[in-house]
Amino acid sequence: MTLLTFRFAPSPNGELHLGHAYSALLNQQMAALAGGRFLLRIEDIDVTRCTPEFEAGIFRDLEWLGLSWQEPVRRQSEHFSEYRAVLDRLIAEELVYPAFMSRGEIRAFIAETGGRDWPRDPDGVPLYPPLDKALPTRERKRRIAEKAPFAWRLDVDAAMARVPGALSWIEFTDETMAETRTVEARPQAWGDVIVARRDIPTSYHLAVVVDDALQKVSHVVRGQDLYSATGVQRLLQQLLGLSPPRYFHHRLLLGPDGRKLSKSLKDTGLAALRDAGVSPQEVKRLIGL
Ligand code: GLU
Repeated sequence: MTLLTFRFAPSPNGELHLGHAYSALLNQQMAALAGGRFLLRIEDIDVTRCTPEFEAGIFRDLEWLGLSWQEPVRRQSEHFSEYRAVLDRLIAEELVYPAFMSRGEIRAFIAETGGRDWPRDPDGVPLYPPLDKALPTRERKRRIAEKAPFAWRLDVDAAMARVPGALSWIEFTDETMAETRTVEARPQAWGDVIVARRDIPTSYHLAVVVDDALQKVSHVVRGQDLYSATGVQRLLQQLLGLSPPRYFHHRLLLGPDGRKLSKSLKDTGLAALRDAGVSPQEVKRLIGL
């Protein structure tokens, strides 16, 4: 039997909270039950928001919780050239296009054109306007030569046209992994997502699919908040010929206000709880593990 591989993949752009503890501990528990591997990946492509201090905090918090993982830890910021190579393939296949509009330009365009009826992605963000996709090659070249800043966006319609048959992923119905169901991937709901940001040759989606494949992750266990984004990742895997892992999107822990925990919520931060004398056992009890 092949070795099952799980991973916890935090971004060091804030402090870990109870929701991260749940995700990390659940991954380790599932890996242990399956006799598989548990990996830690540092998703620090956003070099402006991620800091060494937050990263040190992640290690401190996870070790305090009693977690251990297989070395080496993969740090995404050390692998930009690998993402660049994959991006180059998407460029060569004309599946991505340079997107020049700034946030302000997008807002102004939408206000003028569609206003409140403009379609939005599942997170409520307006879809990227179709202007840049329609730019003639000559104009694209001119702007790039003039050093106009741009991101690379996936042409989702062109990409979907390359997919033979239905696009779907396999989702476990619960953490026992006893049953699965097939979920239809609907990447179009996100419009033309960014696959490489203005300053870096990748985006969250691209780096995640490349790394999950490279690290032979067989089981992606992460929060329900990433459920529908899985459709975009499934499409990228298909385009790049990467074999997809299976997924389990776990419940999200909610704060006292009934909302999803965020990195700015100090009272559920693991470091704050530790400083207040809470033990790792109490943390596990608090999150129901
Ligand atoms: N780095 C992402 C986050 O911190 C998680 C990515 C994933 O699990 O696929 O939200």
